[in-house]
Amino acid sequence: MARKYEGHAVGIDLGTTYSCVAVWQEQHCRVEIIHNDQGNRTTPSYVAFTANQRLIGDAAKNQAAANPINTVFDAKRLIGRKYSDPVIKNDLLMWPFKVTAGADDKPMIVVTYKDQEKQFSAEEISSMVLIKMREIAEAYLESPVCNAVITVPAYFNGSQRKATRDAGAIAGLNVMRIISEPTAAAIAYGLYKRSNCGGERNIFIFDLGGGTFDVSLLTIKGNVFQVKATAGNTHLGGEDFDNRVVNYFVNEFKRKNKVDIGGDARALRRLRTACEKAKRTLSYAVTATIELDAFFKGVDLYSSITRARFEKLNMDLFRECLETVDRCITDSNVDKSSIHDVVLVGGSSRIPKVQELLQEFFKGKELCKSINPDEAVACGAAVAAALLNGGIKSSAPNLVLQDVTPLSLGQAVRGDVMSVVIPRNTTIPVKKSETFFTVHDNQSSVLKEIYEGERTRASDNNLLGRFTLSRIPPAPKGHPIFTCFDLDADGILCVTAEEKTTGNKNQITITSDKGKLSQEEIERLIEEAERYKVEDEKFLEKANAIRALEDYVYDMEKALIVSKLCPEDKKKVNSAIDKARTLLDDGNKENIETHVFVEHLNEAKLIFEPIIAKTR
Ligand code: AMP
Repeated sequence: MARKYEGHAVGIDLGTTYSCVAVWQEQHCRVEIIHNDQGNRTTPSYVAFTANQRLIGDAAKNQAAANPINTVFDAKRLIGRKYSDPVIKNDLLMWPFKVTAGADDKPMIVVTYKDQEKQFSAEEISSMVLIKMREIAEAYLESPVCNAVITVPAYFNGSQRKATRDAGAIAGLNVMRIISEPTAAAIAYGLYKRSNCGGERNIFIFDLGGGTFDVSLLTIKGNVFQVKATAGNTHLGGEDFDNRVVNYFVNEFKRKNKVDIGGDARALRRLRTACEKAKRTLSYAVTATIELDAFFKGVDLYSSITRARFEKLNMDLFRECLETVDRCITDSNVDKSSIHDVVLVGGSSRIPKVQELLQEFFKGKELCKSINPDEAVACGAAVAAALLNGGIKSSAPNLVLQDVTPLSLGQAVRGDVMSVVIPRNTTIPVKKSETFFTVHDNQSSVLKEIYEGERTRASDNNLLGRFTLSRIPPAPKGHPIFTCFDLDADGILCVTAEEKTTGNKNQITITSDKGKLSQEEIERLIEEAERYKVEDEKFLEKANAIRALEDYVYDMEKALIVSKLCPEDKKKVNSAIDKARTLLDDGNKENIETHVFVEHLNEAKLIFEPIIAKTR
């Protein structure tokens, strides 16, 4: 049963650059996108501080050029992250406002407000945007709004989701649920209704916005939404396409007028605005003109650009988008012919070439584009809010959300090999147990090193944490240590190791912000893993050859103790052991080829097998 909440419930798409609020109108049986006081259906996620006031939304963005250091945007890139996060380090260089490290390594935005220096967290800035969105809804609905569903990217970890929820609470909202943006888009298209025929419905969400690109593969079965795989680029979108066009005109202007406008910030700003407009025009026309009077040193810029030129300038970026699409589908293990719906989200998904490439990739499949792509996420959030609020009288399903782990989780085993326990893209929550074995006789402790990543060599992956299980009772090598990886719905991993005969246990809990990677690092690791695949295969081959030789030496050593060998055979086995040990103890093993270990093993077998056969 849906819990009953008082009053209206809205859906809020809290975007990196723009936000959007929507409400389900039961009497009209449809979602209403609520326009702001400027008549715009989306509102810039900007907050500005001046000598006498705080501005939010369009008012903040409109004065950004005159007050750059006190105009804050992109809070979504900071929310729930640490200041030391390398992703933030890169962003810091690009932002005109100042960010410093606060308590607990929390990034704090520093501004001058009413002539005093003030610090705000990303949650506080986001809460200001949320207050604005709430006021927009209240003005339209003419009643107080308390309840909201807020959307976040599918890859947001537990700490980023919690921080977004906190931002809602600071804004005085009762956040009924945080849902993933692709899920909201699928809800907007009512795609869950079509999945009621029993089977699964595979939905691909292509979200290309102003500064970010996200793709997700969702599966809906009955009332369960499952994000099966996600991929993307946190710094790819419309602004990059604008940059290409800006550069094109800067070069053209230089060629024609023999002057470089490179250092003129005002001219560049005017040109950027004009290029963004031209880009939008090129989504429905084949040419667009640019007219900037007295553009630079009194010279006008009157020019035009064709759609074909625009496509050529950006083709590598469009192709990059398609490669990401391909990777997401490959990861999900769903054949692309089994995708039922392809949904377009984000303003830049309107670009005809992007649509054409995507349609081609899906073998001519019709794309879902009937809902305004800037508004689809807020639309879905509004439907979810109404469902949770009991505001939809039709028999709507309760929404259950499940997510996946973006990287494989495992532990290092002998030879620095990564032994995967939970593979990448496994639906969470998940609990998996595996038995690992001691590698030495009478080993009294084991060191557990927990990693995430796709590389075969454990130390090439990201170390999440380590712990030791000690007081293992004396036993020959190969004594079992029961190990359990428990990953909860918020992405918190708990690894337990247990020695069953004594019940001796130890464990480690790795929360989302302790050692876990950001989306960009995840992307980098996956890319690297693909690049290093051949190298990794070679490494594994060698690790296996070394291990096989080590095990064989161990068997031979054991035979010397337990089997009755004649002195002559003993001598032969001893010299085979010595030869193998010399190789295994070589400090320069890195540079010894795999075949050398294999040859040593074969040689040892030739000596040892007939000897041991005699004793059986
Ligand atoms: P979003 O972040 O989803 O609001 O997307 C905003 C981005 O979409 C901006 O870079 C816009 O320039 C871009 N955009 C909006 N409309 C169009 C259009 N018709 N053609 C191309 N790009 C567009």
